[in-house]
Amino acid sequence: MPEKTTISVIKCDVGSLAGHHTVPKPLLEIGEECLRKAEKEGIINSHYVFHAGDDLELLMIHERGESNREIHKLAWDTFQKAAKKARDLKLYGAGQDLLKTAFSGNVRGMGPGVAEMEIEERGSDPIVIFAADKTEPGAFNYPMFRIFADPTNTAGLIIDPDMAGGFKFEVLDSIKNKKITLKCPEEMYELIALIGSPSRYIVAHVRRARDNLICASTSTTKLSLIAGKYVGKDDPVAIVRAQHGLPALGETLVPFMHSYFVEGWMRGSHWGPLMPVGLKDSKCTAFDGPPRMVALGLQIAHGKIASDDHGNPLISDLFDDPAFDLARREAVEYAVTLRRMGEFEPARLGSNIMEYTTLPKLLERLKDKFKPA
Ligand SMILES: [Mg+2]
Repeated sequence: MPEKTTISVIKCDVGSLAGHHTVPKPLLEIGEECLRKAEKEGIINSHYVFHAGDDLELLMIHERGESNREIHKLAWDTFQKAAKKARDLKLYGAGQDLLKTAFSGNVRGMGPGVAEMEIEERGSDPIVIFAADKTEPGAFNYPMFRIFADPTNTAGLIIDPDMAGGFKFEVLDSIKNKKITLKCPEEMYELIALIGSPSRYIVAHVRRARDNLICASTSTTKLSLIAGKYVGKDDPVAIVRAQHGLPALGETLVPFMHSYFVEGWMRGSHWGPLMPVGLKDSKCTAFDGPPRMVALGLQIAHGKIASDDHGNPLISDLFDDPAFDLARREAVEYAVTLRRMGEFEPARLGSNIMEYTTLPKLLERLKDKFKPA
């Protein structure tokens, strides 16, 4: 029987240092402490705590399946504990993503972002965890398309017989809360028609068409749709499997050799260039950005992250590499160009998206000043 293992990445902005900048050490230590205890108690098999900008990220490996109450409660309690510390330290936006007060069995819809994937372990199972700050789940649409549907990105789509038949994309309509599955290459144009609008349509899962093997899973939370008002961007996470009839690790990373534009950045209200960075640069600065993404490479082995002899998980900081220097340089150049535009579109998001920001409050104040033209 193949081993069934679940990868859960649950993230939350519980408060950050010096504005929406970075997660300070005391909060990361709380994350580490809570997950280490859970590992000892047998709730999870292994873990890794890191941060993407101001978001605390909990990577947990276990055998309890997706949407498991105990796993979600562990994440929720850890975030509560970290938020308490953030309040004690008067960190910025302490507890900002914890939108509900009482845990109701699943953190989905309560503020934290969740990407989960239950896999049947293959002979070797390379995994990439992507985590971004100052953007939203639709930020993965473009790279997911490149990785799993674009033969100019993924050579395997052309030359690997195990990939013949292509991949199926499950797309969420985040406004109507409906989903649709489209298969590539046959329905590629329809797919682009939808996911080319990343603020509404979000790639939630990707599966290999011929056998339904799960290949990618993203977080699809829309905080503004939960809270009914702007409460920060839904900084996303994604889990991608690589190799053996799936895109190679390098094919999952090559879309990030160039910067591309995503929604988010300052006050979640601007287009910004995505900058792939190593963990040491996972902190947002200029105009609260530019939006950043980290990528961690690991192997799943017997229900755990493959670890060294001391039990330390073997994690590779994939964007900590000169191969992404050009993308970083481009991101800075694009950022400077956009900022020259100030608060004029297209630097600022279109007015339909601004409805979910703090702008309507300002418009409300001006309402009575408008006279018939
Ligand atoms: Mg954030």
